[in-house]
Amino acid sequence: MKLHEYQAKDLLAHFGTPVPGGEVTSDPVVARDTAQRLGGHVVVKAQVHMGGRGKAGGVKLVNTAAEAEEAAREIIGKRLISAQNPTGIVAEKVLVAAQVDIAREYYLAITLDRASQRTVIMLSAMGGMDIEQVAHDNPAAIVKIPVDPAWGLMDFEIRAAVKRSGISPKVTNQMVGIVKALYKAYLAADASLIEINPLAETPDGKLIAADAKVTIDENAMFRQKEYAVLQDESAEDPIEAEAHRRDIAYVRLGGDIGVIGNGAGLVMCTLDEVSKAGGKPANFLDIGGGAGAEKVKQSVDLVLSDPNVKGILFNIFGGITRGDLVAQGILDAFAEMDVTTPVVIRLEGTNSAEGRALLRGTPLVPAETMQEAARQIVAAVR
Ligand code: GDP
Ligand code: MN
Repeated sequence: MKLHEYQAKDLLAHFGTPVPGGEVTSDPVVARDTAQRLGGHVVVKAQVHMGGRGKAGGVKLVNTAAEAEEAAREIIGKRLISAQNPTGIVAEKVLVAAQVDIAREYYLAITLDRASQRTVIMLSAMGGMDIEQVAHDNPAAIVKIPVDPAWGLMDFEIRAAVKRSGISPKVTNQMVGIVKALYKAYLAADASLIEINPLAETPDGKLIAADAKVTIDENAMFRQKEYAVLQDESAEDPIEAEAHRRDIAYVRLGGDIGVIGNGAGLVMCTLDEVSKAGGKPANFLDIGGGAGAEKVKQSVDLVLSDPNVKGILFNIFGGITRGDLVAQGILDAFAEMDVTTPVVIRLEGTNSAEGRALLRGTPLVPAETMQEAARQIVAAVR
């Protein structure tokens, strides 16, 4: 799950990285008061989960409290659109932070590098808005420090990396402190990514994190209670948030054919078949093993809460779960619901013939192969 910038900065500050003071709010008047308190020179920043807010108009540098209020009014409720986020996200809150006087912009990040099976720190003297471009055009400008899990981070490794990166030697000691603080925060929060871009160097040679992005590994939510409570709010999509509350594996994909299957691999395969048959999947939904009536009902209800959905394709492989039981679960669920969209059900495996027999004579269309099922649902929604 992603943290907002203000939450990310709280985490960093807690472990010793300098960050500008600030306050988050959804009220432009509070934004003005905060700006007043901070001396007027502030930056007003949309708190949305997307990169490139600067370019999308979600970051405004202002010099008076009145301008801060105006900037907050402009940003709150605005849909921010970026290259990474073409559909955009509406900003509900802004962070009003003390403006940093920036002489140079550096890049600092920590994440897991699967290739080297190590946590890796990344440093660059070319921070700021276009780090993706730097990574693409000039990968050598991003210096990496793989962290040995047994020894941890060594000061000399950080010094050597700072030297190679072209970062001002004057800030080496501060950088060593910040990199170590970052590593501590990363481990303590079970993060999968922390990124500071820009890590600003002020004209008087102080380092301070002007921006921060943190992603926490969702597998660690059981022990990251303070972040777990933020999790629903962090989902950009309300249906995905609801799925999470219901403990259902669901991802919204934007098409009009709802897909439900048992097993993540089978569901992904079904998405491909729907696409091959000329359709567009609305979602991924793995109903898991068992799939009794209640689980089916919850899942269908979730899929149908997407207004784009015009048809549903079930793809069930009966293994330990018998096909006739799943068919009965589906029938029981639909008996309690008022579903008018076409539904095609592919049943294969243990007791699948019995399952299909149960479906015969109902509005639910049975299919024998995945390909046939995909063709049927695509034809039905046309
Ligand atoms: P992002 O575009 O979502 O990564 O948002 P950032 O917080 O990184 O802001 C984008 C850009 O705005 C930065 O690269 C800086 O150039 C500028 N910026 C952000 N905060 C400040 C600040 O406090 N002072 C100054 N001078 N520029 C800032
Ligand atoms: Mn940034």
